Amino acid sequence: MKHHIQNHVFDQIRDQSQNRHPHATRIWRPAALAVLGLIATSACTADRPAAAAPDAAATAAPVYAFKPALDPADFAEHVRVLASDAFGGRAPGTPGEDRTVDYLQTQFERIGLSPGNGDSYVQTVPMQETTADPATTLRIEVAGQTRTLAFGTDMVLGTRTGQPEVTLAASDIVFVGYGVDAPERGWNDYAGLDVKGKTVVMLVNDPGFHAKDATLFDGERMTYYGRWTYKFEEAARKGAAAALIVHDTEGASYGWEVVRNSWSGAQYDLRPTDDPAPRLPLQGWITGEQAKALFAEAGMDLDALRAAAGKPGFKPVPVPATASATLKSTVAEKESRNVLALLPGTDRADEVVVYMAHWDHLGTHDATAGDASEDRIYNGAVDNATGVAGILEIAGALAAGAKPRRSVLFLAVTLEESGLLGSQYYVAHPAFPLAKTVGVINIDAMNVSGRTRDVTVVGKGNSELEDLLAPIVERQGRRLVEESKPAAGYYFRSDHFNFAKAGVPALYAGAGRDLLEGGTAAGDAASQDYIANRYHKPADEYDAATWKLDGTVQDLAALFELGLALSYEERWPQWYPGNPFRAARETMMAEQESSKQ
Ligand SMILES: [Zn+2]
Repeated sequence: MKHHIQNHVFDQIRDQSQNRHPHATRIWRPAALAVLGLIATSACTADRPAAAAPDAAATAAPVYAFKPALDPADFAEHVRVLASDAFGGRAPGTPGEDRTVDYLQTQFERIGLSPGNGDSYVQTVPMQETTADPATTLRIEVAGQTRTLAFGTDMVLGTRTGQPEVTLAASDIVFVGYGVDAPERGWNDYAGLDVKGKTVVMLVNDPGFHAKDATLFDGERMTYYGRWTYKFEEAARKGAAAALIVHDTEGASYGWEVVRNSWSGAQYDLRPTDDPAPRLPLQGWITGEQAKALFAEAGMDLDALRAAAGKPGFKPVPVPATASATLKSTVAEKESRNVLALLPGTDRADEVVVYMAHWDHLGTHDATAGDASEDRIYNGAVDNATGVAGILEIAGALAAGAKPRRSVLFLAVTLEESGLLGSQYYVAHPAFPLAKTVGVINIDAMNVSGRTRDVTVVGKGNSELEDLLAPIVERQGRRLVEESKPAAGYYFRSDHFNFAKAGVPALYAGAGRDLLEGGTAAGDAASQDYIANRYHKPADEYDAATWKLDGTVQDLAALFELGLALSYEERWPQWYPGNPFRAARETMMAEQESSKQ
């Protein structure tokens, strides 16, 4: 089954969505609305104008009196503290981590939540830091000649095994198209191939992208199968010895220098023993130029292979060439912490709704010579002190108001900026079974530019969580929209994605584009200004003078109501039909059912 959301016009999206999921809509709407009637009597401040000026909070007395409802001044106080210079940019493994973890635990205790991880509010996340030797070369034997590819210039290589030395010896090369095995789409680039011990070479993105074919995968909208992380994971599941992705700027949406820079220096990962997923001994990228030359020497044509790979029924193609490399790495073990707090449900306490936000950010950078006044602290106010403040505010409002029937877990994860590792660790070591985890609501970087007419669902069209959120947002007089650049695959780039991969329905929603003051022009200008001037820069600071929190609180109110609605539901939201994560959820639920017998 194919379904595509290519159009930004809301009504068309909604029509498509209802056509696609009539069953889901029928299931969810009545129950959700019933719960909403109940919420209307709770302490939520969705429709209240921003009361206290945020700058009042900035000069607050040492003991701040939080209110039991969603409140802009309370929200601002959390952000002010978390994004203060004293927290040093909240880098994992620094005193900033200790301060952040202490602050979160203190807040959860004040709110009256229970420890979320047994009798503890923290979950230790061990990790490894691997740095590849940049003198490493990749040698390709083809047509009696050896091509030697240099690290950085021609290729990048890494290992996730934690081994200080990994060797690949004359491994047969196979071209596997896009490296996709998508049973729900009837597509398998590995069909009939045993890749054990082999080196698979594959294209970036998915078949629909390069073919510019809207009926193939999701056309230009990036699917899960287009992400480079997926391709390595699939090659590992298939048992390959090594996997190489052929870079092209259009397909990757960034140039080679981005690949080179992000694969140089330290790479962060969970330890293999803490991660159930298989790992490749060697993985990396090669430049499009090197790939073209290598295939030409083997008597093959990269462009013709690319065209073949975009057609249904593609079969893997053996390449008369072998790959060899010896990769030396330095490996260091470190650890950080997730923070977890639980609001127990009243009558279905074993079922859990999760609110998540990453607490970590980038820390500080080294001083530039001769610049003593330089700001070296990445305060990470928007990214993601806002998300953490958001889940604290929702926790306070839920604990003080209507009692949820299902339990609600507040999960502040670490190491998002280092590869989504805190959430990955939680999913591999969940405090509550994933089959008992109803859904996940992730908050990463909230809107601080004022009220909007819309709420963005990143990766819109994934799960029935959207069917629950839509009427809540409509009741606020607003609408759900998809993100402005679905080709960039943002759904696959924040913490909820680890839950999605495991099968747990996960929503990433937040900042709309259409500002009440100035419309989408002003909304786009605000987000472009943030990306250009503050995103991942020391200037991402809390600013009481310019931040407008009335829109922030309205977004929080919508997510608050969504979590409460989920906690009152008896049913389980599902991935939409045709979604790549649906099978994992069905398997998980079936296993749980059979274990009960
Ligand atoms: Zn973030």
